This record gives sequence, C-alpha cells and structure tokens, in this order.
Amino acid sequence: MAITLVQGSFILAGLLFILSLAGLSKHTTAEGGNRYGMLGMAAALIITVFAAVIGIDAAGEAYDRTGSGATGFGLMALAMVIGAVIGIWKAKKVEMTGMPELIALLHSFVGLAAVLVGYNSYFDAHHRLAEARDRGLPAPADLAGSMESIHSGEVFVGVFIGAITFTGSIVAYLKLSAKMASKPLMLPKHNLLNLGALVLFIILTIFFVMDPNLPLLLIMTVIALLLGFHLVAAIGGGDMPVVVSMLNSYSGWAAAAAGFMLNNDLLIITGALVGSSGAFLSYVMCKGMGRSFVNVIAGGFGGETSSAGGDVDYGEHREITAEETAELLRGAKSVIITPGYGMAVAQAQYPVAEITHKLRAKGINVRFGIHPVAGRLPGHMNVLLAEAKVPYDIVLEMDEINDDLGETDVVLVIGANDTVNPAALDDPGSPIAGMPVLHVWEAENVIVFKRSMATGYAGVQNPLFFKENTQMLFGDAKERVDDILKAL
Ligand code: NDP
Repeated sequence: MAITLVQGSFILAGLLFILSLAGLSKHTTAEGGNRYGMLGMAAALIITVFAAVIGIDAAGEAYDRTGSGATGFGLMALAMVIGAVIGIWKAKKVEMTGMPELIALLHSFVGLAAVLVGYNSYFDAHHRLAEARDRGLPAPADLAGSMESIHSGEVFVGVFIGAITFTGSIVAYLKLSAKMASKPLMLPKHNLLNLGALVLFIILTIFFVMDPNLPLLLIMTVIALLLGFHLVAAIGGGDMPVVVSMLNSYSGWAAAAAGFMLNNDLLIITGALVGSSGAFLSYVMCKGMGRSFVNVIAGGFGGETSSAGGDVDYGEHREITAEETAELLRGAKSVIITPGYGMAVAQAQYPVAEITHKLRAKGINVRFGIHPVAGRLPGHMNVLLAEAKVPYDIVLEMDEINDDLGETDVVLVIGANDTVNPAALDDPGSPIAGMPVLHVWEAENVIVFKRSMATGYAGVQNPLFFKENTQMLFGDAKERVDDILKAL
C-alpha cells in the first residue's frame, strides 16, 4: 500500500513538472506553469521525506540500511530548514538583473551534489562489498556480478557530468557578475584539449568499470573540473545566455545521474525533464542568435573572432534633450520601443509604461520590440513589462517586428546596446557577428537612452550611435523617461 502510494506520488509529481514546462512556454500561461512546478516540487519533497521515514527507498522498495526513522527525519528536516532559510533570503535579496548569476550559482550546487552523491555511492558500495567479503557472504544483490559494473559506470559518469557542471557554472557565475572578464579564453589548441579530455574520460571509464578504485575516480574528477572550467571560459560575452541554458541542461543530466546512483525514479524523471528542456532551449536560443549548437556545447569550437570595433572611427554622435524627444513623439504616428539591460538597471519600466499609455491615448501606434537575449536572462524584458502592466498584445518578438521598423517614425532604444548593434550584420570579425539584431536604424528617427558612449555586455562598439538618424539622450533611463513624461 505504502509503496503504491510513493510510486503514485512520483508519477503525479512528474506529471505536474511536465504541465509546468508546458505552461512556461507562453507568457500568458507562465504563472500557471509556475504553480504546477511548485505543487510538483512540494509533492516530491513531502513524499521523499515520508518514504524515508517509513523505510521505503526512492524506487519504491522497502529497505533497512539507510538512516530511516526519527534520526533520518531529523537530519532531513534540519537540512531542509537551513536550505529554505538560505533560499528565501537569497530570493528576497536578489535584484532582477542579478538573476542569471544566481541561477548559475544554483546550477553549480546541483553539479556539486551529483559529485558528492557519486563519491558517497562509491564508498557505500566499496564498504558493503568489503563487509560481505569479510563475512564470507555473497555480494549484496544490487552489486552482484554485472550489477557492480553498472553501478561503477553510473558513479563515474555521474561524477563526470556533475564536476563539469560545477566548475562550468562557477565560471558562468564569475563572468555574469563581472568578477571575471567576459572575453573568451582562447588557449592554444583549445579544441584538441577538450577532445583529449573527453577521450581520456572514456578510457578511464573502461578501466574504472573493470576495477573500481579511488585514485582513478579522483583523477577523472580533476579532469572533469578542469574541462568544465575550460568549456565555459572559452565562451565569449554575447554567447553567455546560451551557456546559462546549456548549464541548466547539464545540471538536469547531473541530477538524473544522481537519480540513478540513489535509485530514485523521481530524480531521474525530473533530471531528464530539466536536461532535455534545457538542451532544447539552448538549441532554440542558438538558432535565434545565429550560433552553432555544437560550437557552444564544445566550448567556443573554432570561435576565434577579432575586431571589437574599438579602434574604428565612426565619426561624431548627436545629442537630443528630453523635451525635444517629447516633441518628436507628439508628431509621430508610430513608435517602437526596444528595451534592454539598461531599462532593467534603471527600473524604467514603470514610466515607460506610462508614456506608452499616454501616447496610445493620443492615437499613436506604440509597440515594443523584444530581442531574445535582451537583458540578462531569457524573457527578462517581458517580465519587466508585464510587471508594469504593458498589454501583452503590443509586446512583439524581434522576428515579428523587424520588418515594421522601416515604416516607423520614432524608435526609442531604452538601455539596449548589443541587441541593436548593426555590426552583428556588417562586421564579420565582430564577436557578435551573425547574431540577429533589431534593425532599429531603418526607422526615421532613433533615440538611444544611455548614460555614456560605453559598450554593452559583449564589449563591442556600436556604429548605430553615429548614424545620421540617431540621437543620444544621455542620463539614467528612468530619469530621462520621467522628464519626457513631464514634457508630454
Ligand atoms: P547591453 O548589455 O548590450 O547594454 C546595456 C546598455 O544599457 C549599456 O550600454 C549601458 O550603457 C546602458 N545602461 C546601463 N545602465 C543604465 C541606466 N541606468 N540608464 C540608462 N542606460 C543604462 O544590453 P542588451 O539588452 O542590448 O543586450 C544584452 C546583452 O547581455 C547581450 O550581449 C546578451 O548576449 C548578454 N546576456 C544576455 C543574457 C540573457 O539571457 N538575456 C544572459 C547573459 C548575457 P551606459 O553604461 O553608457 O549607460
């Protein structure tokens, strides 16, 4: 009865996770998706604790060797309380712009957990086999004959994926929080280094399955840690969004690997869901950014780029005041707003929503053009605009709006830079070459809101700022938008 209940709950939690992913695919259903996810996770946690207390292992079979009962429950409750306190504190403290760093850090924990589970599983198996040998008993059923080889393979692969995810995510965290240069690290023969590490891993796996021993496991762990570091360090600034979703996928596979080692069906299902959806998201993002999927997984394979446009003389830029911008807006029939990271930093979404409302009330067609990697996390701009109650139907994706930019009177580029950089199309040597961008320069007037002539996240100069139809409106985006609001 209890076993059926545990297994039934695992299926229910798995279904809720699938519903959650389905909901998250559209912003109109995203809130519901989040709720399903929370319910699924609550069900998974409750049933895992319940199963441990009554002595049923995670695959639904009765067991008698791990810390079940009151001590096990006490330890789990303590770990959960500590985790929940840290989680709630971090979630309350984090700024929206700091979310990608936090996500990268959380992925590193999943990787570390898989490594620890792997080592624990290795020591546990080693200890039980030695005990059986000492007592002259046959090997435990789950480690007898070929089962031991399967177990060793699971441990080795699990630790490998976990260690790559751990250091890869730490590097992503450092790059996203600007504690490490976002420039790609290009060691000589870096592709060969990655390939060599992979081949070495396969050879070591064969040896480990034949004779599981700690030195081999340790050597492979060091190789995997270095490989994770190198794979992500080799990725350039503009490609970081894909890396974050790729690491999300790796963390899913690491969790699935831990699920195999812990004999936990729910962890396998959840890990596989995260792994495959993360891989699919990375694929979609690569396509959207004109990047090769293999290139990104292989850590910037062949990705040497040179010019950052820093030395090129693009001429003089022109400036405009908030009052002049308001005048221009009053005379416009169509306006497109393309927000970017700077709007998030300035928290300018609320006055931007007010301007939208005011202009629409005057009969002006106002729409938003959202680049897939605008801001610092997928969907960043959509979340901010939804928060400020901008209607969904005027918020369009880049592909939906790019063709209309040529017939637009005024484009307001609010804190965006890389995502509106024509060098992505015109300069094959640029680090962002090939990335599709919003063609804002095709509009009659372009007003760029930023504080200086500094570059964006990818560190590339933007020729848009020097075009004849572009004018710069310097200052904090929120303050300038407030000024325009007053002038309107
Ligand atoms: P960018 O990061 O290219 O540029 C943002 C601009 O905002 C800067 O040039 C900055 O100029 C300006 N800015 C900053 N603060 C303010 C402020 N308070 N008021 C006004 N302006 C401000 O932004 P985009 O959104 O165009 O591009 C996103 C970049 O981030 C891409 O390169 C993308 O690859 C990368 N990325 C995206 C992720 C994602 O998932 N979306 C994740 C990780 C990276 P100034 O300093 O002069 O004010």
